[in-house]
Amino acid sequence: MSETLLTYLITALVVLPALMLYLRSLKKREARANSAAEKGKLYSEGPKAQHPKIDTTDCIGCQICTYVCPEGDVLAMLGGKAVIINGYKCIGHGLCEDACPVGAITLVLAKPSMDASMPYLTPQHETSEENIFIIGELGGLALIKNAVNQGRDCIDTITKRLESLGARRAEDGVVDVLIVGAGPAGISASLRAIQNKLTYITIERDTIGGTVAKYPRQKLVMTSPVEFPIYGKFSKLELSKENLLEFWNTVMKRADFRVNTGEAVENVQRGEDGVFAVTTSKGQHRARAVVLALGRAGIPRKLGVKGEELPKVMYRLIEADHYIKKNILIVGGGDSAIEAAMGLGSQVGNRVTLSYRKDSFSRIKERNALRIQESIQKGKVNVVFNSMPVEIREDVVVLDVNGETSEIPNDYVWVFAGGTPPDDFLKKLGLQFGIKDVTLEASQEARQERAERKARS
Ligand SMILES: Cc1cc2nc3c(=O)[nH]c(=O)nc-3n(C[C@H](O)[C@H](O)[C@H](O)COP(=O)(O)OP(=O)(O)OC[C@H]3O[C@@H](n4cnc5c(N)ncnc54)[C@H](O)[C@@H]3O)c2cc1C
Repeated sequence: MSETLLTYLITALVVLPALMLYLRSLKKREARANSAAEKGKLYSEGPKAQHPKIDTTDCIGCQICTYVCPEGDVLAMLGGKAVIINGYKCIGHGLCEDACPVGAITLVLAKPSMDASMPYLTPQHETSEENIFIIGELGGLALIKNAVNQGRDCIDTITKRLESLGARRAEDGVVDVLIVGAGPAGISASLRAIQNKLTYITIERDTIGGTVAKYPRQKLVMTSPVEFPIYGKFSKLELSKENLLEFWNTVMKRADFRVNTGEAVENVQRGEDGVFAVTTSKGQHRARAVVLALGRAGIPRKLGVKGEELPKVMYRLIEADHYIKKNILIVGGGDSAIEAAMGLGSQVGNRVTLSYRKDSFSRIKERNALRIQESIQKGKVNVVFNSMPVEIREDVVVLDVNGETSEIPNDYVWVFAGGTPPDDFLKKLGLQFGIKDVTLEASQEARQERAERKARS
């Protein structure tokens, strides 16, 4: 009897401290999650596009989902269950869904039509205007895999429609499809058009690769297995930006893909015959269907200060190691600004100042928040809150700090103030946004009318 008691006592002595430690760490984690959730409420209106949906009855509170997210604290444990605390940070990698051992997480799409700030789209990616399609990030869904999938599927829809036109389809100077943008969505759509033997024109205002081509050098890109037109199954999960671009390049060469780079689309108008006239910076094209794969990066927002037109002012940093022993000003308080400041700050002899108009960083990744503190402590970056440049000159920048101006020596300025998404352009084309747009029904009626007219003719 006394032996059994002794065994119980020893077990209790071993187990209790471990249990206490575990409970204490659980309490600490919960406190951290609560404070992150409060912070999340301040900056987040919830997920904008695709995001995890957690079934709390199935969630066993194992926390794995909170560790695997590359974006930081999107998810946390509250009351022993996984919850979304910073929905705006989610860009839909879906690693939480893959990692959940009990299948309690599914990745769902915030239907673009639920949000008045997104263009209205059908499940086939068609806009409120018949035969104008939107694919990729412009439709509200980030990630390369989504862009590739949508580009491919949308062309399959167009191909089926065109097939029903038979011989009437062939007309001089009219292509089957005009694709705007050569990021991952536009590349995938163009390759599928080649594969499906459609006539096509692809127009890109910049260079091939879209946002991916503008990632910093050697950035690690996370992808998912995807059926890539012409090539087939592409199964790499991680690769450098350069290797991904090289892969696309090889497939594009194999398919003899042609793209009009340095040409921007300015307008799309439907003619009486249903064929679109597409006006660009270089002329006009005619097409039976138009696929918009413009992304949402838009045109970089400018500061609107004197001297901003100087060539030393830039809005994107790709090769940080090309700049050494320079006086550099970074403007902005988001992840891009902070990453650029840290990248340039670690190059030999650079003196980097980061100017941000607010009094603290807000919407940044947890790991950037930690790393920038380190850079400040090591003297690699000097952060000036409550400040903004008021004038940029050849060799100095005039900075307003709390209402007082001072001049700092300067060789280069990078501005990271976000971009203006192409919403005005879409509105100019007459495309409807969200379900709140009352004119949508009218446009659906018009579509019905057109369909009936076509059937009669
Ligand atoms: C820093 C960063 C890191 C990321 N990391 C990852 C990652 O690791 N994995 C992942 O899956 N996703 C990642 N993403 C997201 C991914 O890059 C995008 O979701 C994807 O590039 C969207 O592809 P897209 O083709 O829709 O648009 P984009 O890639 O933006 O391409 C749009 C193209 O359209 C062109 N264009 C725009 N307007 C016009 C016009 N009027 N006329 C002609 N051309 C026009 C643009 O020049 C551009 O080339 C990241 C994004 C960023 C910003």
